[in-house]
Amino acid sequence: MKVKPASKHPPSLQAFHVMLKPRGPICNLACSYCFYLHKDALYPHAPFRMSDELLEAFTLQYIQAQNVPEITFAWQGGEPTLMGLDFFHKAVDYQRKYRQPGQKINNSLQTNAVLLDDEWCQFFKQHNFLLGVSLDGPRELHDTYRVDKGGQPTFERVMQGVKYLKKYRVEYNILACVNDRTAQHPLEVYQFLRDEVPATFLQFIPIVEKSTNPAHTVSPRSVMGSAYGHFLTTIFDEWVKNDVGKVFVQIFDVALAAWAGFRPGLCVHEATCGQALAMEHNGDLYSCDHFVDSKHFLGNMIAQSLVELIHLPQQRQFGRDKKAALPRQCRKCRVRFVCNGGCPKDRLLTTPDGEPGLNVLCDGYLAFFNHIDRPMRRMATLIQANRAPADIMEQPQLQKTSRATVKPGRKRH
Ligand code: SF4
Ligand code: SF4
Repeated sequence: MKVKPASKHPPSLQAFHVMLKPRGPICNLACSYCFYLHKDALYPHAPFRMSDELLEAFTLQYIQAQNVPEITFAWQGGEPTLMGLDFFHKAVDYQRKYRQPGQKINNSLQTNAVLLDDEWCQFFKQHNFLLGVSLDGPRELHDTYRVDKGGQPTFERVMQGVKYLKKYRVEYNILACVNDRTAQHPLEVYQFLRDEVPATFLQFIPIVEKSTNPAHTVSPRSVMGSAYGHFLTTIFDEWVKNDVGKVFVQIFDVALAAWAGFRPGLCVHEATCGQALAMEHNGDLYSCDHFVDSKHFLGNMIAQSLVELIHLPQQRQFGRDKKAALPRQCRKCRVRFVCNGGCPKDRLLTTPDGEPGLNVLCDGYLAFFNHIDRPMRRMATLIQANRAPADIMEQPQLQKTSRATVKPGRKRH
């Protein structure tokens, strides 16, 4: 296949992200709540291996399509390490080949870590990859849902992978899913990740799965809104006393950005979205990692350029709908500036006045964002005074959180 450069694009084109799935949904584990494993049904009999030609074409177009000083290649799955190390050697070679003068290229790779060894970690260190490791907490909590294809626990193997990352001082963050079980143990999860792994960058991802039982909105292993709120507020209280500036929790950073007057910086809490797309092993592009389905299929980048696909009216509409579809309750909400209604995939509830589109996690968002209002305002003031937000830890009276002031009755799920 001939490598086709990106077509001309408007100079105002913003940075965008494409989550690359070089091995499609193929994974060596079978975590119970993985939303991607069953996507193999979209491609019956497919080999699920990105070809070298496609890798090269994507690299060229992705770089040419973005007028920004830094570009990140985000490798995901399934399990991307199943592509083997040679594939990633080629990936960095193509990046080197097509990088523009002065441009910085980053690579991030989300993994279950079980295949990591000396060779992988030497490579990651050499090429400065940022690894995201899926680890839900201490052994019993992690092993509840993160199992292999034989239903066997995976904690030991994941921690072995983390050992290799530490051995080679590869930068990593932890992605911990908050489910019905982990939500009941916020401090245990946080202290384990902070002290025992240890990790300094943490993401807490709420599990929200549509129920297959029409009597319920979400599956039993999903986290309820109120439980998610309790999980976050409990961890926040520990963090604001001891860990500001030392441990970085994604949703706390998002909140601080919003309180300080910046954009939240995470699609879930931005007013609109649509700039984080997903690309399957064969070049098929979809609106988002959570919407890999025929309705959100944009086209294939072998047939059309990446820029053309990203600018399709349906993708712009997808991004705008995040805001346009907000129910009145969100539009009037006092924490909307930081919440923005959350991710559309989680908007499965109806408001008390009968409007669809309320987020399943609303109770939790409301409680959490209200709870952190006072310390967030203090930290935002510190930032404006050119001081470090961590200075709040020297002033216990400023750490006091707010009492939740908004408790509207809401349909249960
Ligand atoms: S649908 Fe959700 S996950 Fe996807 S880009 Fe929008 S906010 Fe982000
Ligand atoms: S807290 Fe609830 S009502 Fe407020 S913006 Fe978020 S989802 Fe909407």
